[in-house]
Amino acid sequence: MKKILVTGGSGFVGSRLKIEKPEWIYLSSKDCDLTDYNQVSNTLKKIKPDALLHLANKVGGIKENATKQAQFYDTNTYINTNVLKASYENKISRVLSCLSTCTFPDTISNYPMIEEDILSGPPAKTNFTYGYTKRSLYVQTNAYRHQYGVNYSTFCPSNIYGPNDNFDLESSHFVPAMIRKIHEAKEGDTVEFWGTGSPLRQQLYVDDLVRIIPFLLDNHNTDAPLIISPDQNLSIKEMIEIFLNNVEKDVRIVFNNKLDGQYRKDGSNKKFKELYGDFEFTKFENGVLKTYEWYKKSK
Ligand code: NAP
Repeated sequence: MKKILVTGGSGFVGSRLKIEKPEWIYLSSKDCDLTDYNQVSNTLKKIKPDALLHLANKVGGIKENATKQAQFYDTNTYINTNVLKASYENKISRVLSCLSTCTFPDTISNYPMIEEDILSGPPAKTNFTYGYTKRSLYVQTNAYRHQYGVNYSTFCPSNIYGPNDNFDLESSHFVPAMIRKIHEAKEGDTVEFWGTGSPLRQQLYVDDLVRIIPFLLDNHNTDAPLIISPDQNLSIKEMIEIFLNNVEKDVRIVFNNKLDGQYRKDGSNKKFKELYGDFEFTKFENGVLKTYEWYKKSK
């Protein structure tokens, strides 16, 4: 059996992957601080994996991304460089690294975005630094592919949600924040959301990604930052309505019309489906209810 090592094993995606693939080896920052090259190299020497899945990154909310830009840039640049360099120096011939659609330009002329668009304009202001560190990871991965002939490649998931997500209202993404706010509201309450409700988002159910990752590890061997995104591209307002209809809660929703994020950032899953075949993504109406069930049990 191949020995697979996963960075970011204690995070949201890593902890779901561990349920699907318990035989893989999972690292947290306590096991190995990836900003320290010697720790990374010594860990790889000890474990001697056949392949490495690189999920770890310092991922903050909008506030942290704005106030700790230099720290985030340094940390993620060190993490990504150390992982690639130490993998190569320890003769690991397969590394699969995770980007995000924040890597892509803020706006492009034609949607959905395709893999070739990745460097065609600056990333969104709210993710500028994070977006550039992910771009570096993409460029550096392909530099290793070309110079050293190793099978290092990247994939690019859209927004991810599901069980084990972060439900802290200060730092959570939209879906867990929506679930928590509506769960905590009483019948007849008014619940406020940021922005206008019109931005569009592709929400990828985490367990779909967890089923896809082992396939990518075995089969994705090109330069392309393979986009992994579901078919649905829903507005914030539509997602709230779907959730409310399914939980049958009588609350009034208002939008404060402040600070909408990017209007749209949908990516095409055509290339992924050419490689995988016709993957059936979990519909938002089903995934959000599974997530809600998990949230209620976890409290
Ligand atoms: P997460 O929950 O924030 O987890 C981050 C992981 O990185 C944790 O395991 C953390 O370890 C580890 N880490 C951070 N700094 C480290 C360091 N210095 N040394 C070692 N490990 C360190 O992230 P996630 O949501 O699972 O995201 C996983 C990947 O998916 C990331 O690359 C992210 O960019 C990408 N992605 C996420 C989303 C999304 O919506 N969540 C969307 C697209 C792409 P500790 O627990 O020990 O701190």
